[in-house]
Amino acid sequence: MPSKTVAVIAAHPDDEVLGCGGVMAKHGRAGDAVHVLILAEGMTSRAERRDRGLFDEELSALADVAKEANSILGVASLRLLDFADNRMDSVDLLDVVKVVEDFISGLQPDIVYTHHGGDLNVDHRVVHDAVVTACRPMPGKSFVTLLFFEVPSSTEWRTPGAALPFVPNWFEDISETVALKMEALGVYASEMRPWPHARSVKALESLAAWRGATVGVEAAEAFVLGRYVR
Ligand SMILES: [Zn+2]
Repeated sequence: MPSKTVAVIAAHPDDEVLGCGGVMAKHGRAGDAVHVLILAEGMTSRAERRDRGLFDEELSALADVAKEANSILGVASLRLLDFADNRMDSVDLLDVVKVVEDFISGLQPDIVYTHHGGDLNVDHRVVHDAVVTACRPMPGKSFVTLLFFEVPSSTEWRTPGAALPFVPNWFEDISETVALKMEALGVYASEMRPWPHARSVKALESLAAWRGATVGVEAAEAFVLGRYVR
């Protein structure tokens, strides 16, 4: 199999690992080049108003953490942008689309992993919409497989009827790489929470085991297939 070019486009540092860290490592081991784009800065929504100055040290520490976590997963490149954390609904969607289009056109990826459109988190929804728009099929453009991941503590928190539910129809066996995913999440310790939070080690190990058991393997990551063309 010729090696593939893979893009992972996420809202916040840690979403990429929560959503598809196991599959990123799997692609890396298969010789595929995984390129990660993270659009929002993270953290600044934890204060009353956005003030990057208040979080200077934390944001630069988070960037280092993101680099370390992604290097554990063997990514080819990581790009961190600074859209306002949890305020991406205040940006014109077109501006986000243009950034994603720029990233996609430079890479020409075979596969793009991104957020599910039914997430509770507004940045996740904006990124989803921007990626689907940037990857719209046009004559003369190369085919892109679109896969939408779940992010524990967002995807499952949307209430029924508010949006399309996350009903996975694509499973990736990550039995060989789930340990690397958990190691990368260990690096993102500032973003993790104690059990029984959905973003705790125990919850994430349980989810990987349940997604695996759903298809009869030790561990899996689950996705909704957005589009596949062949
Ligand atoms: Zn997020």
